[in-house]
Amino acid sequence: MARGEHQNRTKRLLPGKMLWLAIAAISCAGFALLHTLFGSIPADALIANTGIAKTVDVTSAIASSIPMNFDVPKNFQAKTIKEAPLPNAEKVIALTFDDGPWPETTEQILATLKKENIKATFYMIGQPLKSFPEIGKKVLADGHVIANHTLHHWYHRMSPLVAQREIEDTSKIIKEVLNVETAYFRPPGGVLTNGLVAYAQKHNQSINMWSVDSGDSHPKRPSPEAMIKTVLAGATPGGIVLMHDGGGSHSNTAKAVPQIIAKLRAEGYRFVTIPELLELSSAPPGASTAQAITPTPNHS
Ligand SMILES: [Zn+2]
Repeated sequence: MARGEHQNRTKRLLPGKMLWLAIAAISCAGFALLHTLFGSIPADALIANTGIAKTVDVTSAIASSIPMNFDVPKNFQAKTIKEAPLPNAEKVIALTFDDGPWPETTEQILATLKKENIKATFYMIGQPLKSFPEIGKKVLADGHVIANHTLHHWYHRMSPLVAQREIEDTSKIIKEVLNVETAYFRPPGGVLTNGLVAYAQKHNQSINMWSVDSGDSHPKRPSPEAMIKTVLAGATPGGIVLMHDGGGSHSNTAKAVPQIIAKLRAEGYRFVTIPELLELSSAPPGASTAQAITPTPNHS
């Protein structure tokens, strides 16, 4: 993602202190109400309805006292990846979307992914998730993987305490809004040296870069055709495609995604989430990959 484009992001994400306070109050009240109404759902009923690659009963999941966990395979904990080598040379690729949830674009992309029966990974920023909790819930309800993309999307060097807050405050919002605990992290701007990745590593998270940048965060906003060309040219087995559903309108991305999917499929690719990609990458050579990615309910 282009760093210049993000420099004013904080301003755009903060339309007014009062609005944030009001949204936070409404979110908290809504969560408390859900918790009161549905807090006694038995754990096994919840597990039966949830799973990484399944559509989840999001109301039950959010209301349960048991969070949904997106855990990292042991051999990928504290590791930074740009792609994942596949022992079985299978043509899989992971679509990822950053900086949401966001009005319109996120839902347009969700509609495409649902129609095509594809699961993706969404790296959410804490502030918009607080502002648009219902859109965040739709992402989870459609069975996509939720990942952490910090609270403010800052690039500058930060103290260990600030880095901790950027990641942990976002984890808290993800937990409060979605009842999800995730150990998947993407550093804003792909900056690896400002203290955020050091914190994520210390806490055994999976640090997820990308192998193909669609270019959609460039200030000039490439056309859908240009995005499609870039992604197709850079696609590799085990690759990770960077796109954006938030941080401003990304209508070109929403327009490009159906074609990107169609063209990658025509080349023989199938689509996986980042946890699925890591599972596949961890599988011994010769193992059936269909077995390796069997979605298991993942609660703890
Ligand atoms: Zn970002």
